[in-house]
Amino acid sequence: MIAKPFLQAVPVLELIEESGFEAYFVGGSVRDHILGREISDVDIATSALPDELKEIFPKTVDLGIEHGTILVHYRGESYEITTFRSEAGYTDFRRPDQVSFIRSLRDDLQRRDFTMNAIAMDKEGNILDPFSGVEAISQKKIATVGNPEERFGEDALRMLRAVRFLSQLCFSIEKRTYDSLVKQCHLLDNIAVERKTVEFEKMLKGQNRNEAIRLLASSGMHQYLPGLKNHTEPLFQFSVSLFKDLQISEAWVLLLFHLELKGKEVEEFLRSWKLPVQTIKRYKLIYSWVLERNNGQSWTVETVYKAGIDIALSAEKVFTCLHTGKDESRRIIHLYESLPIRNRQELMVSGNDIMSWLGEKPGPWLRDVLEEVERAVINGKVPNDKEKIKVWLNGLNRKSEKS
Ligand code: ATP
Ligand code: MG
Repeated sequence: MIAKPFLQAVPVLELIEESGFEAYFVGGSVRDHILGREISDVDIATSALPDELKEIFPKTVDLGIEHGTILVHYRGESYEITTFRSEAGYTDFRRPDQVSFIRSLRDDLQRRDFTMNAIAMDKEGNILDPFSGVEAISQKKIATVGNPEERFGEDALRMLRAVRFLSQLCFSIEKRTYDSLVKQCHLLDNIAVERKTVEFEKMLKGQNRNEAIRLLASSGMHQYLPGLKNHTEPLFQFSVSLFKDLQISEAWVLLLFHLELKGKEVEEFLRSWKLPVQTIKRYKLIYSWVLERNNGQSWTVETVYKAGIDIALSAEKVFTCLHTGKDESRRIIHLYESLPIRNRQELMVSGNDIMSWLGEKPGPWLRDVLEEVERAVINGKVPNDKEKIKVWLNGLNRKSEKS
């Protein structure tokens, strides 16, 4: 049975065919359909040139006209349609020097990376498979279309794609493809960090990520990834400890831990992957709490309040990957739920209140007093009530005058 996203797109293929061109479903959606995996968006390949497509469909957006990809809006949906193309001359190991539009489906499939990604399906659901991609799928094998050494030489990113597919699909890499990957992995030096990061993160999210990470380390690919050069052993340890259902942020933090990064090194490492500033900030925070926990600190009302529930739970999850049997997640939730306030804004007194009660001018002392009040409220020494806090502060003042 053809899945719904394909059925919905059948009229698009029909319209292209009615104009005298060929059109097929291709790429990851066909692969995932054969695998029985859920598919999100379908990719369409056609013999029609971009300008010819624009005549067929009134609503289009150019996505990369030089590569022949346009977005077609049709009946409330949008479809990526790519003109059959062949590629030639990869002098920089990542981009073809020349892209030529062609009219042959076979030649278009031939330029694709892996046999499992080089299968086409027509609108009736018939499979066109000149490179035995279906067989590769049934054997769960990742193999390049054609000579792997050449194909990785053309575009080094394909090597990282292989590892991330291994992670996502629980496939293995066919021997000749693997051998070439080991031989050619130094070409990853030519790939932009941003593209490496995308593949690395997809890999981290995959079901088979443990094996994928081990493969990165054993093939030597990690030598050409930011901040991982000569960190073979930590990567193996990372792969072993990564057994929980971690979010991507938590996986990154676990990696930081195994790399034993300290101080400035943390930021430098995360920056070397070009992660966004806000993301780096968050990972650093989670990591700092993991280190606290690793130093033997249990969670307290104060630390849960300071970290916030999300950061605290993330840090605990990372920690439990390192030390099984010491999970304090429930305790964190309990402590958080028992907190009288969740942040400073919820405190019933302000700096102005305190200044007027004590009759003092603003100064650095005010921050200290506010922090003391905050701590007393969190620890239940005084209720979060303006009058009660005032009385409590007066009591404190009297005590300090006496001493
Ligand atoms: P995903 O499920 O992650 O989208 P996908 O296989 O669809 O996987 P895309 O990056 O969306 O991957 O690419 C769509 C198709 O384009 C691939 O299936 C493959 O046929 C081809 N392709 C993508 N990147 C490359 C590449 N670097 N070299 C050769 N062919 C590629
Ligand atoms: Mg895709």
